[in-house]
Amino acid sequence: MGGGHTGSGHWGSPEKEKGRFFLRANSNLYTSVHSELLSFRFFDLLHEPSQHIKPLNLLQPDILIAQPSMLMLLAKAQEKGELAIRPSQVISVAEVLEDSDKNYLTEVFKQPISQVYQCTEGFLGYCCREGRLHLNEDFVHIEKRYIDDENVRFHPIITDFTRKSQPIIRYEFNDILWEESLPCLCGSPMISLRCIEGRSDDSFRLQNKQGIWLTIFPDFIRRAMLIAGDDIPPYVVEQTEGAEVVVHLTCDELPDALINHIYEALSAFFTLKDLSPVQISIVKSSGHERGQKLRRIRRSFLSQLQ
Ligand SMILES: [Zn+2]
Repeated sequence: MGGGHTGSGHWGSPEKEKGRFFLRANSNLYTSVHSELLSFRFFDLLHEPSQHIKPLNLLQPDILIAQPSMLMLLAKAQEKGELAIRPSQVISVAEVLEDSDKNYLTEVFKQPISQVYQCTEGFLGYCCREGRLHLNEDFVHIEKRYIDDENVRFHPIITDFTRKSQPIIRYEFNDILWEESLPCLCGSPMISLRCIEGRSDDSFRLQNKQGIWLTIFPDFIRRAMLIAGDDIPPYVVEQTEGAEVVVHLTCDELPDALINHIYEALSAFFTLKDLSPVQISIVKSSGHERGQKLRRIRRSFLSQLQ
């Protein structure tokens, strides 16, 4: 999601540490809320995830904040009994929170999973008590640039006059936000979202049979993978060339049935969209480097289209 994180930080005194982070950066958002009542400890994502288990068991954090890929690793450790923590709040940041991951995390940590939408530029959104993500219009002015025909997906254009040194004026993020049209039960009038779908530069660009390049939003690929079956291992679907897609699967074995289901689901979707033939490769690999943000749907093929 918008902006990157750099560097890493570790601070806070052990006896009062309660909040627990797994972010590489010590961003302004969190350093600004450091106080007597609240203390944060940052963990470096480049470390082996298993190294976090013991300190977490000892410290028993009240709040666990991490990107979904790390929360998933911790939830698996919790399920196996290696990790035994009972945070009162679990917050997902920095990566797209997939529905399937959200459901699993909710089940393991026995609570709804909150989301914070933040970036280098600041704190852009948070979940209300109804569990819906609202944009932080109290502090930033947000305009919407719709990017689909239905006018539900948009890029936020941010203006923030509260920043004295470097005001942000009409800065467009390439995150794809999916607007929720119904008002929220919490009563907040602030823009609310069904989800953060991904980034525009991860949308696939594929040609139809007439040679016209089309934008395929990440959610379409996600839905095709959902149709492929309930037992699909963790995946990354990557567009590597103009007409080539690689499906990375984190698993020990690649049974033919699994390959066929994924191949059929993606092919059916590409046919439905009337696309020129797309080569689909299915490989055994995580498709993800530790320490990097996990983007389950991504495009490494550089397209001329914006
Ligand atoms: Zn709400």
